[in-house]
Amino acid sequence: MHILDSSWIDEDLRILHDSALRFTQAEFEPQREAWEKQGMCDREAWRQCGQAGLLCASIPEAYGGSGGDYRHEAIIYDALMRGGAAASLAGGNTVHSQIVAHYLLNYGSEEQKLRWLPRLASGELVSAIAMTEPGAGSDLQGVKTTAIREGDDYIINGSKTFITNGQHAELIIVVCKTDPAQRAKGISLVCVETEGAAGFSRGRNLEKVGLKDADTSELFFDNVRVPVSNRLGEEEGQGFIQLMTQLPQERLSIACAAATVAEMAVEETVNYTRERGAFGKSVLDFQNTRFKLAECKTEATISRVFVDHCIVKHLRGELDAEHASMAKWWCTQKQCDIVDECLQLHGGYGYMWEYPIARMYADSRVQKIYGGTNEIMKELIARSL
Ligand SMILES: Cc1cc2nc3c(=O)[nH]c(=O)nc-3n(C[C@H](O)[C@H](O)[C@H](O)COP(=O)(O)OP(=O)(O)OC[C@H]3O[C@@H](n4cnc5c(N)ncnc54)[C@H](O)[C@@H]3O)c2cc1C
Repeated sequence: MHILDSSWIDEDLRILHDSALRFTQAEFEPQREAWEKQGMCDREAWRQCGQAGLLCASIPEAYGGSGGDYRHEAIIYDALMRGGAAASLAGGNTVHSQIVAHYLLNYGSEEQKLRWLPRLASGELVSAIAMTEPGAGSDLQGVKTTAIREGDDYIINGSKTFITNGQHAELIIVVCKTDPAQRAKGISLVCVETEGAAGFSRGRNLEKVGLKDADTSELFFDNVRVPVSNRLGEEEGQGFIQLMTQLPQERLSIACAAATVAEMAVEETVNYTRERGAFGKSVLDFQNTRFKLAECKTEATISRVFVDHCIVKHLRGELDAEHASMAKWWCTQKQCDIVDECLQLHGGYGYMWEYPIARMYADSRVQKIYGGTNEIMKELIARSL
């Protein structure tokens, strides 16, 4: 199966997929090795994405977006991955268009939406969301970064880590404690515009096992002053509820990526083993290869069918935390299992970076970790038992 076989596909979405795929293959794929060496894509690539209509596809036109919905985001994500920009722009754009833009759309004031969303859609601003801290990842309520009110400003202090788009980001939603004495009820989301923000600094672009062309960074806030009007939501203390409301979409997006990579791994491996010879026949002719690939194809198809089901639920506004968590843990686990099997069927060449399966192997592992670890997903599912 393929995303274009999903139940919600129509002719316009097919055309969007085709044009986004061609654009990515022409503009970004040739740059991937250079981007891997520099640890991130070029800043200009974000503007190119904006011009090509690949950013903020599900944001209304009134705010500079394309006026689509989650289907358009899923199609663009798939095309960026298949076209050769999996880590840099597919992953980065998920944070930018599917996550940050939707916090602004859902919780921002009219003034905030008009100020930031059109610039996100054009690629003039790159965005990030900073939840994780050196001492708090899964336990989000335990964040230590504070935003303490001083007149009409907040003074932000603390540090964040593992932040996607961290080197490029010019607009960052920072998860802060506006009331450090409280856990969930003390959390607020505060937007920081990094240009000229005194006391803001970026740490290293972290060296990762995979996602080599994606920037992932530490961020430091040392008495960073932002206006109170940069808070998302009318009152303080809404941040945790806002996060819990938006996280299902983030988890669905991770599951979407998992389904795509599983399909790509099977396609790559069928092609490779068909061409590769051993003992006088093609590796694909061994019964073990055929059975392993039959299992992988079945599991990839089940991932796609379940993701499709969740997308339909999401389009109806019915995707709950339980189903999003099921999709995230199951599809990413299957992604890793399938990619591992497929790498095995490549033999030694599968371990070489020049073969796509090697990159998929390195990139896949983190899918079970970010967006909430798969153990946390099982906790969330177990609450519904
Ligand atoms: C490449 C990459 C990109 C990322 N991008 C972002 C980003 O853009 N923004 C952002 O805010 N964060 C980002 N993250 C952070 C990511 O979301 C966290 O790493 C993740 O949530 C886990 O937190 P942690 O690393 O602190 O692990 P910990 O919370 O320390 O977990 C360690 C282990 O303990 C387990 N564990 C924890 N609590 C429980 C429990 N209650 N029950 C059972 N097991 C438990 C976990 O499952 C895990 O196996 C990114 C991470 C990576 C690697």
